[in-house]
Amino acid sequence: DRSLAAPLPVLGRDVTVPLVTGGEVAYAALDYAASAPALQRVWDDVAAYAPYYGSVHRGAGHLSQLSTDLFENARTTVADFLDCRSGDQVVFTRSTTDSLNLLAHALPAGCRVYVFETEHHASLLPWRDADVTFLDAPRTPRDAVRILERALADRSPSPGSRPRPAGAGHDGPALVCVTGASNVTGELWPVRELAAAAHAHGARIVLDAAQLAPHHPVSVRDLDVDWVAFSGHKLYAPFGSGVLAGRADWLVEAEPYLAGGGASRRVARRADGGVEVEWHAGAARHEAGSPNVIGAYAVASACRALSDAGFASLVAREQDLLARVRAGLAEVPEVRVLSLFGDDAPRVGVLSFVVEGWNSSHFAAALSAEYGIGVRDGLFCAHPLLRTLLGGDPQTQGECGAPEAAPGERSLNAIRVSFGAGTPDEHVERFVGAVR
Ligand code: PMP
Repeated sequence: DRSLAAPLPVLGRDVTVPLVTGGEVAYAALDYAASAPALQRVWDDVAAYAPYYGSVHRGAGHLSQLSTDLFENARTTVADFLDCRSGDQVVFTRSTTDSLNLLAHALPAGCRVYVFETEHHASLLPWRDADVTFLDAPRTPRDAVRILERALADRSPSPGSRPRPAGAGHDGPALVCVTGASNVTGELWPVRELAAAAHAHGARIVLDAAQLAPHHPVSVRDLDVDWVAFSGHKLYAPFGSGVLAGRADWLVEAEPYLAGGGASRRVARRADGGVEVEWHAGAARHEAGSPNVIGAYAVASACRALSDAGFASLVAREQDLLARVRAGLAEVPEVRVLSLFGDDAPRVGVLSFVVEGWNSSHFAAALSAEYGIGVRDGLFCAHPLLRTLLGGDPQTQGECGAPEAAPGERSLNAIRVSFGAGTPDEHVERFVGAVR
């Protein structure tokens, strides 16, 4: 379709890499799901701001004031990007992993957490010290909603249903954690329906948007999620910042995630020799220490760039690339594309597959060495999901790493190709040709 917009300019397009067959080729980054290249515009914005960088919040100097304004404005930009409600807080973290650990730290006493076993380890593991209910892998989006509803059924019934005997079930605070788009299959999860199910049973929901936000507009208001987490480095802003945005109450009531300067409003020595601290009530409560101002500024720049480009045209282009990848892979009978929800399930530009007769690590290494294509192989930090998708016990070597297997041995890990707003057609065409 000639009317599709051009890819957005990103860094690294003219980086060349050597091939084992001799010569060099322009590197084709098809590993956006791990980390996306920086948008040129993000890089330009960061470069323009860097000379004006100053310490934030308490500096009296001009550049400190300027940096404070930019840092605080970055929160507003992110809140607008996520279509947050008034009163929601935007906390700058290091990453999605950090954001979800922060929320796990802020759970109210007696909170029960519900999480599908198919989640990325960043969504699966932070709750392990809480009262966690792991939910079975669903095989359709509707199945996911049913499984969650069944699990929540022991909570206070929704209005209108029969009252339960006193003392039965769990009526304390509860949280559901769910991904918006899988980092393995790229499949979209029924977030709005899961949020409705959670809320009908008095539970809250946090959306892991690490893979959703770079590919799709995320509206906190419309999806009706309580929190959303994402990483700057997957959103074309690889400068070390992530985001946790959403309801303020649990965050304000929790002990600070990190104790230190910036999070405290007043500190005094007590008569008994101890220290008395009054913590901030705003986002700063969980941002102790000198914040990553440039990282936050870069995230805000990426939010602006994606909004300006328009998600409708980004999605159209990405879906066109996805269709080409799918059509290309469908021509190779040995290829099996991995899917939890079925072949027709909508997905973002992330797709994993195995090739019969090939070890996935060797296959990915060959794509790199012979074609200059960077994909990922392994278990993608989602071991239970890979176990479901591949059957049997995946071979692990390092948590997210590539297992060793002899050539020709049945592959119990997979190859992932992923792309986004900066991917030119040629990268996808080269990939499809190489697999063929
Ligand atoms: N959730 C999902 C769905 C992811 O894909 C990832 C990164 N692969 C994470 C969470 C963790 O993100 P980060 O490594 O930036 O903390």
